[in-house]
Order: sequence, then C-alpha cells, then structure tokens
Amino acid sequence: MTRLVIMGPQGSGKGTQAARVAQALAIPAISTGDIFRANIKGDTELGRLARSFSDRGELVPDEVTNSMVRDRLAQDDAAGGFLLDGYPRNAAQVVELDAILAEHGVALDGVVELEVAEEELLERLARRAEVEGRSDDTPEGIRRRLAVYHEQTAPLAQAYAERGIHAKVAGSGDLDVITSAVLEAVASLQD
Ligand code: AMP
Repeated sequence: MTRLVIMGPQGSGKGTQAARVAQALAIPAISTGDIFRANIKGDTELGRLARSFSDRGELVPDEVTNSMVRDRLAQDDAAGGFLLDGYPRNAAQVVELDAILAEHGVALDGVVELEVAEEELLERLARRAEVEGRSDDTPEGIRRRLAVYHEQTAPLAQAYAERGIHAKVAGSGDLDVITSAVLEAVASLQD
C-alpha cells in the first residue's frame, strides 16, 4: 500500500518522475494538470472552466479540483495506492486530501519534494514551451505559476515534515539516478 504525493515547482521534472516512480511501484500516477489538460482538449465544461484559470497560471478553484480528485481516488485502481502529482497545491487542498483519505480509512504515506535551482527551472520551462506548445507556457504564465508555487505550495512541505512523511530529493542530473533517489526516499519514509 503506497499513497504518495510528489511535489516540486513547474519544470522540476515532477511529471516525468511521477510516471517512472508509479510504474516501479505498480500504482497509478494521478496528475491533476493532466486531467485538466485532457478536459481542455476534449472541450468539456470542466475543461473550459479550467482553461480560464490555467492559461493565466492561476489555480483552478478548490471546489472544482477537490471534487475531481475525490472522484479519481474513488476509482478501483487507486484502492491499492497512488502517486498524486500536482495535488495538493494549497493548504485547503491538504485538508481536503486528508478528509478524502480518511473516508477511505487510509492516510498518506509519503510526500517527496523535487528540488531544482530556479535558474535551471526557467531554462527547462523555456525549452518545454518550444517543444510541447502548452497554452499556459507563456513567459507570463510561467512566472505566475512559479510565484503561486512559492506562495502557496512550497509551504505545505513544512506541514508534511511535521508529520514525518516528507523527504527532499535533488531533481537535477540523470533521470535514472533521480528516479532511484525518489524510490529510496519513499522506502525510507515507509520504514
Ligand atoms: P500542472 O500540469 O500541474 O502544472 O497543472 C497545470 C494547471 O492546471 C495549473 O497551472 C492549474 O491551473 C491547474 N491545476 C493543476 N493542479 C491543480 C490543483 N491541485 N489545484 C488547482 N489548480 C490545479
């Protein structure tokens, strides 16, 4: 049973590492950003709403995001564990995630935070903007998302550290080395 969160600023390689770590642990990687993007692509009602926030680098309102996560975590494949990527992103979402898990009679096992120097983040995001063409990877969108991360998301690490379920991992360098370091951190948090 492995219930995990991976956190880190945009460009820290969270999505890439989430997919690798989830595969290694045979649990689903659940990315709120990916779910929003799939809805934006499908032009659903949720997608249109999400886009009006994500294009500006702002968070989608908590009620919308929380109920989406609640539904996703109720699906069968998440019963044996999951790796959340991009959620929780603010203090209210931390409270909501605890409540959702408590309803299932479980709790989070670990939160791994990827650390990458700001300069490298900006370089990576500029490159991603060219390669992927995400509509929110504009210079203004990138700046705003990093600011939101520093203001609202980074402080959550402290709350998880106080519970003894938080670990930091260096997010620069070889992808395989980073994946191994994340897996080691997860194992040490579960001891
Ligand atoms: P990401 O791919 O994680 O960078 O997410 C892309 C965009 O989706 C973000 O800039 C937000 O607008 C939205 N989003 C993703 N996760 C959340 C969340 N937990 N709370 C609110 N908005 C979110």
